[in-house]
Amino acid sequence: MPIYNHTFETMPRREIEAVQLKRLQATIERIYATVPFYKKSFDKAGIKPEDIKSLNDLQRIPFTTKLDLRDNYPYDMFAVPMEQVVRIHASSGTTGKPTVVGYTQNDIHTWAELIARSFSAAGATSRDILHNAYGYGLFTGGIGAHYGAEKLGMAVIPVSGGNTKRQITIMQDFKPTILCGTPSYILHLAEIAAEMGVDFKDLHFKSGIFGAEPWTENMRAELESKLHLKAIDIYGLSEVMGPGVSIECLEEQKGLHVFEDHFIVEIIDPDTGEVLPHGETGELVFTSITKEAFPVIRYRTKDITSLNSEPCACGRTHIRMNKPSGRSDDMLIIRGVNVFPSQIESVLMETKGILPHYQLVVDRKKNLDTLTVKVEIDEKLFSDDIKSLQAMETHISENIKEHHGVSAKVLLVEPKTIQRSQGKAVRVIDNRKL
Ligand SMILES: [Zn+2]
Repeated sequence: MPIYNHTFETMPRREIEAVQLKRLQATIERIYATVPFYKKSFDKAGIKPEDIKSLNDLQRIPFTTKLDLRDNYPYDMFAVPMEQVVRIHASSGTTGKPTVVGYTQNDIHTWAELIARSFSAAGATSRDILHNAYGYGLFTGGIGAHYGAEKLGMAVIPVSGGNTKRQITIMQDFKPTILCGTPSYILHLAEIAAEMGVDFKDLHFKSGIFGAEPWTENMRAELESKLHLKAIDIYGLSEVMGPGVSIECLEEQKGLHVFEDHFIVEIIDPDTGEVLPHGETGELVFTSITKEAFPVIRYRTKDITSLNSEPCACGRTHIRMNKPSGRSDDMLIIRGVNVFPSQIESVLMETKGILPHYQLVVDRKKNLDTLTVKVEIDEKLFSDDIKSLQAMETHISENIKEHHGVSAKVLLVEPKTIQRSQGKAVRVIDNRKL
């Protein structure tokens, strides 16, 4: 498979680190002078830009959190005057104000390059046609993928989310070969296609690039068999740039290469803030080292995963992050047991006849937390007798208990009972907060 930017993506470790240090120092110097938040935070920690002499010195710098971004809403974290900003995106927060991010012309070029690298890693070339089902708008997914795909020379169909039936017709008529979107919306698309009597086998996709929500290996198997394509995970978040911070390669589909000439990645213990060695699981932290309008220093993503510095078959030398198992935000604590929706998903997908549509409902009854897992099953199974359905519910519940130590009531429901999303799926309904 061709590598889009061979020089940077296959750079020996020592050279990558030299590039990182130079770019980190330049970023630190610039934001210290231009962003009052960072000046204050550095001063408080007793650090001056010239103190950053090695990559290890990064660990002395305080973290940046979503709360910091919210406190500086909307533009106070921008490091350039508005006349240099050419684009604004925002991510919806679950509570309160959204996070606003800005891009200069150079930032847009960098982002497009990293998406072009990502799509190349997923097997795309200028001969491909992209069906871009990411939402276009304030969300970074749609337009972010769009510019990078054009840079790679692909023909982009900017179909966005929604209008699902029309999307299927477009897939049949325009013959796109690469698909992208959130995995939950893509599964919804597959479902509508089946209803319309359209088999993905007869469509033309070779790769699907799915991101914006964490998904499991079992979901990959589901996506690949339903859609007849290679499912590739892409990672990014608007605070750091948008999609294209890291990508899986087609060769291994195992861990996402972080574009280290633009971002420094760390894994920390979420409780102590201590940097953890490669291989250990903790919270992902990113520092952007080339962004102009909205650089972030040691931004805590709340995504939980580990890093893998083993060489990769694709030839890229950039470190890989394993698929995030979830966000510390999404982590449910049920009677003292920590559990991520993705762990429940894993168990569900291993059960025959289960559809990839589920929802976790948490309630508090008499001061006791209860978890109900609602999951759709195949129509054929649903017509089976009550007894075998109950047996199946018990079986799944036992598997969840065995693998993740949490007691859950499993409720099998008819196909299409759980609401479909046009963007990110709503996996958890926590009634305890109401
Ligand atoms: Zn690779």
